[in-house]
Amino acid sequence: MKAEIISVGTELLLGEITDTNASYLAGQLPLLGIDLYWISQVGDNRVRLVEVLERAWQRSDLILTTGGLGPTEDDLTRETIAEVLGEELRIDPILEREIQERFARRGVKMAPSNIKQAAVIPSAKAIHNARGTAPGWWVEKDGHILMAMPGPPGEMHHMWHTEVLPRLHQRATGAIIFSKTLKVFGLPEGTVGELVSPLLSSANPTLGVYAKADGIHLRFTAKAKSQQQAEEMIAHGETRVRSILGESIWGTDNDTMASVAGDMLTEKGLSLVVMEYCTGGLLATTITEAPDTSAYFKGGLIPYSNEALIAYGVDAKLIYDYGVISSEVAQAMAEVARLRLGADVGVSITGVIGPDELEGKPVGTMYIGIDSSQNKKTIEGNYPGDRFRVKRWVTNVALFELRKMLLALD
Ligand code: AMP
Ligand code: MG
Repeated sequence: MKAEIISVGTELLLGEITDTNASYLAGQLPLLGIDLYWISQVGDNRVRLVEVLERAWQRSDLILTTGGLGPTEDDLTRETIAEVLGEELRIDPILEREIQERFARRGVKMAPSNIKQAAVIPSAKAIHNARGTAPGWWVEKDGHILMAMPGPPGEMHHMWHTEVLPRLHQRATGAIIFSKTLKVFGLPEGTVGELVSPLLSSANPTLGVYAKADGIHLRFTAKAKSQQQAEEMIAHGETRVRSILGESIWGTDNDTMASVAGDMLTEKGLSLVVMEYCTGGLLATTITEAPDTSAYFKGGLIPYSNEALIAYGVDAKLIYDYGVISSEVAQAMAEVARLRLGADVGVSITGVIGPDELEGKPVGTMYIGIDSSQNKKTIEGNYPGDRFRVKRWVTNVALFELRKMLLALD
């Protein structure tokens, strides 16, 4: 089954909104084994919308549209589908009543223009929209399926899951496509690519290497008759990759560095605190993005001057002797935070965020301290890039090193 997605809305072409609907649907189709060949974006313009729909009708078996189902005059998806299929629009009285009742429940008077949302053509079946007034359309004709869905992502996702996915499941008898991502940190993309190169030539499952903000992602994609079979095929490749990359693999799929470290802390019943000198709270922010953070994260200190470092309890003599940008101060920060805030593990970051060098150390020089009653370590590195990239990178290194330290506790 050849599929095509059409996103309708002038806002898309003006760069005002990002086409998350198309990305969402593109991510859903592989699970049904449906091949997606085209994604188009078109404004609220009748002539161009007709052109895009006509071409899609000629070349695709399944067409998914989002947007243009609203009540206003610029919403033209229904009218243009009717025009392309040469069918007459008529108001469905049941739909009309449903829309009226929806407004009545909210205590709002229905605008006369909303009536057009009750229009259908003979080949279209109206699809219930539990989250909004605009029903979708499921159109079947001459061996093609066209599904028109509302633009607001919340409405579209809900309609997709409750109404469209089950219908397509019945039709799509082909193989399913299933993916699994392994996440790697601490090795450059080229090195990872070389190390796994024997697997890169495999046609099924395929293996892709992608550089991301949190390291290198290795994505296995298998085509198989069932999810179980696809998972087995991937498991085989995964075992090989894990034997090559070992502890550099820190997570899979939806894992984040913070969630992985957080799960380990929870499992071990350990609490965590941070003191960050140059990242301005990014480490704490990243940690608190994981769910259930309060189970292990007690808080953090964010000094941004020598005075604040000393006020929090870092020995002034250490700063005088070694400088703030030093492994000695990093170690002291982690320990001071841990003892002061009464936690099991303290993590610290100090470094030169730029734009100028500091204490004779170049921009990007970073020290990370990790401190627990059994373990003390500092990590030194230099990370090139602009402010935000340096901050994000050192935050990731700190979380990756925390994970390594927790692994070593076993
Ligand atoms: P419409 O159904 O065209 O009136 O769209 C209503 C709203 O849905 C738009 O104003 C956007 O906020 C959102 N929307 C429409 N199309 C998309 C899309 N392709 N991706 C993300 N949001 C969208
Ligand atoms: Mg619109």
